Amino acid sequence: MSKNKILIVEDEGDIQELVAYNLGRDGYQTRVVSTGEEAFTAAVNMKPDAILLDLMLPGVDGLEVCRRLKGSVETQHIPVLMMTAKGEESDIVVGLELGADDYITKPFSPKVLMARLKAVLRRKAREETRETSVLVRGELRIDPGRHEVCAGEGTIDLTATEFRVLHFLARKPGWVFTRQQIVDAVKGEDYPVTERSVDVQMVGLRKKLGDYADCVETVRGIGYRFRE
Ligand code: CA
Repeated sequence: MSKNKILIVEDEGDIQELVAYNLGRDGYQTRVVSTGEEAFTAAVNMKPDAILLDLMLPGVDGLEVCRRLKGSVETQHIPVLMMTAKGEESDIVVGLELGADDYITKPFSPKVLMARLKAVLRRKAREETRETSVLVRGELRIDPGRHEVCAGEGTIDLTATEFRVLHFLARKPGWVFTRQQIVDAVKGEDYPVTERSVDVQMVGLRKKLGDYADCVETVRGIGYRFRE
């Protein structure tokens, strides 16, 4: 496997060093920039496999960088892992909605960082899974062609919206989705789904999933994810 190239966008010297050192030790090629202004140009020139993006940057902040990265055809496919501080939940939500792929809260251990980064790279590689293919997730078998969920021997009877929510989450186990992202993914022309109604759908979905309810996890302050 060729070396993964990672762009690190971070203004604090000690975190730059910590991250670059640990990535380098694991065989990643790294480049560090310390401002949002440099980040976009560096992403275009370097074509990194992933970007570690600090949100709190002087000048152009991390969210704006994310908006530009995900808004450009040149860079929108590059996974972005946000590095955030405690208490930045609302920024995390905005970042995820802008298309960031995951986040890690400071202070983090190098081990956790490496695990998250590997997961982001791995998930990106797996992403080409076709929309219509049957998903097998542990005991659950989710068949979008038949609109059917089987668990063990039985079939679980879901409404159309519950099915769409489950299928949307299960396509990317481990990914956190905000309520707004779920709304955007599942709303039908005939059925206005609101952010609040996502919570209602989750209650219904979990009830019907019964013994398998814990495959859908609530991520406090952010949204939901399918257990990896
Ligand atoms: Ca910072």
